[in-house]
Amino acid sequence: MAEKKPHRVNFDLAGKRVFVAGHRGMVGAAVVRRLAAEGCEILTVDRKGCDLTRQAEVERWMADARPDVAFVCAATVGGILANDTRPVDFLYDNLMIEANVIKTAHDVGVKKLLFLGSSCIYPQLAAQPMTEDALLTGALEPTNQWYAIAKIAGLKLCEAYRRQKGADFISAMPTNLYGPGDNFDLAASHVIPALMRKAHEATLAHRPSMQVWGTGKPRREFLHVDDLADALVFLMKHYSGDQTVNVGTGEDIAIADLAAMICDIVDYGGELVFDPSKPDGTPRKLLDVSRLSGLGWRARTGLEEGLSSTYRWFLEHQTEFRGL
Ligand code: GDP
Repeated sequence: MAEKKPHRVNFDLAGKRVFVAGHRGMVGAAVVRRLAAEGCEILTVDRKGCDLTRQAEVERWMADARPDVAFVCAATVGGILANDTRPVDFLYDNLMIEANVIKTAHDVGVKKLLFLGSSCIYPQLAAQPMTEDALLTGALEPTNQWYAIAKIAGLKLCEAYRRQKGADFISAMPTNLYGPGDNFDLAASHVIPALMRKAHEATLAHRPSMQVWGTGKPRREFLHVDDLADALVFLMKHYSGDQTVNVGTGEDIAIADLAAMICDIVDYGGELVFDPSKPDGTPRKLLDVSRLSGLGWRARTGLEEGLSSTYRWFLEHQTEFRGL
């Protein structure tokens, strides 16, 4: 039974062996940074050491590493176009990763595990802001249904382990994320890194205009990845329950306004040209974060401040991106 008002628990991370699956990704890297303050031993493995889509490799590595705690941040992720055009990667990779890591975590005695969902797993036309109860109440947004189905299966697997095995496995549902370590490859990226890179390149090339996909009308909520990492550690320490917990800021912005804000930060003065041949995706995605704020957590980084620091990070790392 889903509980109505979550109560705070206390689960100390100090001295524990904490596995961060997916530490090379934007989210996993932020969780590793945040865990430095917890006095725990952080365990990570790269793809060469353990391919998380391969059950035997996961079993071997986890039996050897013996984590007490696991954050499942590993996933195949991407923006609207990548989701729409690489359905096999988004469905198969994510199903395999989560099934292998969650099951093996239980088998090797992991005491607590946190799995990450995503706000795109709520129905396409869910009432806004979306509460946790909106899950599975309607049809999915077609552009990211593959990812959504895989993530819903992961959430349900955690719930199933709670119910059948009494495991303390929980899940969190982050909104759209951005920050250092994001993917700036235009074919696979989400909107923030895409627009940042486009505005940056348009400035360098003195282009009079830059393209923004879709109509600019969809609204999205954006959370800085360091805020997400802080929320995930908070939930690991203070939440235990069947229901997933939304993680967001509780505020959204139209894509056209976001594009204008990014152009200001990059200092690009050209025109924004909207390309309606590209998908808009779901019209609005805003999370109801009252469950998480009821537990005592809220986001700290304002969007403008977060975009500015992300742009500074991009400038420092741009030589690492293909084509720049
Ligand atoms: P979504 O939240 O799953 O739709 O993921 P995205 O971050 O990829 O896209 C969010 C919105 O931004 C969609 O309406 C896109 O059409 C829009 N958008 C505008 N320009 C771009 C762009 O250059 N790249 C991406 N990925 N999205 C863009």
